[in-house]
Amino acid sequence: MRLLVVSDVHSNLQALRRVLEDAGLFDLAICAGDIVGYGPDPIKCVETFVERGFRCVAGNHDAAVVTGDVLGFNPYAAEAISINRLLLDDERRMWLGRLPVRLMLNIEGVKVVVFHGSPRDPLNEYVFPMEVSHLAVEFLDVTGADLLILGHTHVPYVQRSGLGMIVNPGSVGQPRDLDPRASYMIIEVEEGEVSIDHRRAEYDVDEVASRIRHQRLPDVLATRLYYGR
Ligand code: ZN
Repeated sequence: MRLLVVSDVHSNLQALRRVLEDAGLFDLAICAGDIVGYGPDPIKCVETFVERGFRCVAGNHDAAVVTGDVLGFNPYAAEAISINRLLLDDERRMWLGRLPVRLMLNIEGVKVVVFHGSPRDPLNEYVFPMEVSHLAVEFLDVTGADLLILGHTHVPYVQRSGLGMIVNPGSVGQPRDLDPRASYMIIEVEEGEVSIDHRRAEYDVDEVASRIRHQRLPDVLATRLYYGR
């Protein structure tokens, strides 16, 4: 079973399309949340997720776009959420509103659990590479996962422990690890064995930046894409 694992697409259609091209064939696509927010193309990103049958959890930006509640977001994120909310139609907004906060899948005997933030705070906790080594045993124990997939930080990692593995595929649409290329993972599960291939795909940042300006999103959301931060 070949899994495409992504997170934090953030309405960046160009990056999402490049990842889908670059990934080649896969059996199942999984997303750890934040399909929308920040970027210029929420409708087409949601459409692509529906078409390709992605299994997805809700992220904090997805939830905020559905409810309109931007409390706790910085001003740029909040403005982008409001614009994304206006750009979406009812059908796509309702689809986002139905996303669960936790996903549990059994893939050839391997228990895969997905959250955007963390098991104890599914939407909002940031689990960075520094913290995950301390939290791995607790999180794998409490979820019973062999493979726990998290998003939210936009920073990729693979953390192995005796109980299993925690991964974050990084961000497709707004990487923050100083590498501007879209970040994602191909995870192969075969006879109970899990192998991880962390990949980067270069995409046309100029085109997204011009779409961001066209939709009158904050300019900083375009410039940061060039630096991957
Ligand atoms: Zn995000």
